[in-house]
Amino acid sequence: MLHNLNHIGIAVQSLEASIPFYRDALTLPLAGIEEVPDQQVRVAMLQVGESKIELLEPSSPDSPIARFLEKNGPGIHHIAYEVSDIAAAIAHLKGQGVRMIDDTPRNGAHGARIAFLHPKSSGGVLTELCQPGH
Ligand code: ZN
Repeated sequence: MLHNLNHIGIAVQSLEASIPFYRDALTLPLAGIEEVPDQQVRVAMLQVGESKIELLEPSSPDSPIARFLEKNGPGIHHIAYEVSDIAAAIAHLKGQGVRMIDDTPRNGAHGARIAFLHPKSSGGVLTELCQPGH
């Protein structure tokens, strides 16, 4: 059901201030920057092998990422597993008694379909399913 670790989401105050560490010090190629209105974030994707680092900057004070930063400061926000059939993966998890934040997939960065599990069902680790768009 899960293919690999698609990305790790990291909450940052500012993409501009955070990108140089990942791009220049860690030498990860910057795949692109994109606004995701659904989640009120600006997202920078950096490639590391088959996986990515997803830097998340709030684009509004009401963004879930803004609330996360207020509470926890910058740091790891979620991990995302790659799936080829997100609807089937959600159905499987619900069949296992897992609570979902998203019962139906929504739009993520780069045309992906995504859904979050409820952290109460995943040991406090915010977990995302991600079906790549291409
Ligand atoms: Zn993500």
